[in-house]
Amino acid sequence: MAIPVLQAVQIGGYVLRQKVQGKRRFPLVLMLEPLFRCNLACAGCGKIDYPDPILNQRLPLDECLHAMDECGAPVVVIAGGEPLLHKELPQIVEGGIARGKYITVCTNALLLEKQISKFKPHRRFNWSIHLDGDQEMHDKSVCQKGVYDRAVAALKLAKSKGFRVTINCTLFNDADPERVAKFLDDVKGFGIEGATVSPGYAYERAPDQQHFLNRAKTKQLFRDIFKRGQGGKKWPFFQSGLFLDYLAGNRTYECTPWGNPTRTVFGWQRPCYLLGEGYAKTFAELMEETNWDSYGVGKYEKCADCMVHCGFEASAVNESFSKPWEVLKVAIAGIRTDGAMAKDIPLDRQRPADYVFSRHVQNKLAEIKEAEAPNTSHLSAAE
Ligand code: SF4
Ligand code: SF4
Repeated sequence: MAIPVLQAVQIGGYVLRQKVQGKRRFPLVLMLEPLFRCNLACAGCGKIDYPDPILNQRLPLDECLHAMDECGAPVVVIAGGEPLLHKELPQIVEGGIARGKYITVCTNALLLEKQISKFKPHRRFNWSIHLDGDQEMHDKSVCQKGVYDRAVAALKLAKSKGFRVTINCTLFNDADPERVAKFLDDVKGFGIEGATVSPGYAYERAPDQQHFLNRAKTKQLFRDIFKRGQGGKKWPFFQSGLFLDYLAGNRTYECTPWGNPTRTVFGWQRPCYLLGEGYAKTFAELMEETNWDSYGVGKYEKCADCMVHCGFEASAVNESFSKPWEVLKVAIAGIRTDGAMAKDIPLDRQRPADYVFSRHVQNKLAEIKEAEAPNTSHLSAAE
């Protein structure tokens, strides 16, 4: 698999240190969303459905760097919205690298050609270009023709300038395994460092609610894809083999939402990148005051179909420390694509969904209004 050895060793060292210190919960990847504004409006996106005053908000450079320091995770994934719309993105990336972080910028790549001269290649930095399949699949997914060609041109440009480039691919229930396998062949041919694949999370605010995968369909889809590529060994995945094995239904994991904490313009998001159920002012408050036991598959209705990397990659990393032979087994034999699937977590005791989006939006709008209101108190004092 395509995670560089030095990166794997350094992240492994970090995990070991946390375990030796007896920490039960610790972050692996900081998901930093310094803005929600995007230059696309994809049908399956749950990130951009905010009123303009919120879409106009930016996490400034100092708050982004402070979030990295507070959290301490060795990997920082900068997403959004579209991070290339943030004017301080080059400084955020540089600040992260200077702190010894591995930085990934997730982008739809539409602005990459225009902005690439503001960034420098570095072994700790990679572009993760959003490509949800071949030309037809991707353009359909992002609801705009021509985006695949522009993203691939930007990918090749970034490669030619010496950047590390990966792709991230979200799959929905209309994905055809044969075409996805062919797509993975194609992106491998572009010389990418790796690919991450994930089933789309069923965002309650996404405009298209018809095409999200349930868990049974997800597992079969990934089996059908991996069997076309030597149990996945044919392609350079930029994620752990055990997580891919989980996607193919061969393992059962509880979610580890604190493994990928998320910082947005709202604050530290509870409980995870996918679900905004509340916000904490500080990272310590997020870790200590979130009722983690009330989230996850089998615990909360909104988690029922989730198999997304931000919840389960950290679970896979945890298992790789307790059962390293399993990592070796998957690396050598590939992902099993037939036979019985692992028993899944039952859903009969999950608590019902709590619909809190509008409340958080109203609170944020009130906060923005208050911050923007002219301060008249000194006038009254002077009068
Ligand atoms: S999925 Fe990504 S590119 Fe598409 S609208 Fe959402 S943030 Fe933008
Ligand atoms: S299962 Fe975990 S990662 Fe998925 S939505 Fe629920 S809390 Fe988030």
